[in-house]
Amino acid sequence: MTEFELIDRFTRPAPRAGEGVVLGIGDDAAVLRPPRGEDLVVTVDAVVEGVHFDARFAPADVGWKALAVNLSDLAAMGARPLWALCALTTRRGERPARLAGVGRGLAACARAHGVALVGGNVSRARELSLTVTVAGAVPRGAALTRAGGRPGDLLFVSGRLGEAALGLAPQAPAAARARQRRPAPRLALGLALRGLATACLDVSDGLLQDLGHLCAASGVGARVELARLPGPPARAAARAGQDPLALACGGGEDYELLFSAPPRRAGAVAAAAARAGVAVTHIGALVGGGGVRLLDARGRTHTARARGHDHLR
Ligand SMILES: [Mg+2]
Repeated sequence: MTEFELIDRFTRPAPRAGEGVVLGIGDDAAVLRPPRGEDLVVTVDAVVEGVHFDARFAPADVGWKALAVNLSDLAAMGARPLWALCALTTRRGERPARLAGVGRGLAACARAHGVALVGGNVSRARELSLTVTVAGAVPRGAALTRAGGRPGDLLFVSGRLGEAALGLAPQAPAAARARQRRPAPRLALGLALRGLATACLDVSDGLLQDLGHLCAASGVGARVELARLPGPPARAAARAGQDPLALACGGGEDYELLFSAPPRRAGAVAAAAARAGVAVTHIGALVGGGGVRLLDARGRTHTARARGHDHLR
């Protein structure tokens, strides 16, 4: 199969036309028209065989996840997704059917979230990898950032924490395995939180680590009430020999939104969650000073040591 046949087979299932796509795949570069009066929000992330996935992952799940993790970053910024580009690397002799499967998964995620694939590239390497760039838009100046949290703001998280990490365990229930393989970017919630959340990020490296990032960017500390954490189903965690609290605090790959909002906006947060069709849980508050303190059910304080995922370890 030639490079061109490969690109065609890989990209064909994906939606290619969409808002602002003046000229898509097939020329030297794409021509894109940014929405009038809006800021572009752009991010890139790679998934690499042997690091982020292995042979246990279905090819379509690899493609889905490569796009979904990027869309999660757009969700965290309150952006509406528009375009994606994908750079693929592949071993000599890789099965074309496997690459086509990856392309189908990417296409399914793109279709599910209204994203047009506007460019791609393929090159030889020692392993399969996908580097996906996505762009979205927010009304000018309306992007959510990590930096606006203030002492006294309440802290919220969407969905369940630790379920995706549980999904890696051999005895994990099907729901947890699905969370690991096909994360659902919280785009609708991100949109609903514009003008409401004071700080926001997506939980990719584990709650405590990502909360540390939010606190550092906002120049605040945080208090987390452990009893409030929406962890993985306790029975399922126990069957898999895992501690649900550890999974909830440091599991990683949740792709949920962690955000702060003033207490007087708690009702609006609940309404935004209902509109987005996602559960949102109040888990604590931002405080003055620095550091993350964990309060257990008896009110005892523990100092958090972030044990999330370090990409370079
Ligand atoms: Mg992120």
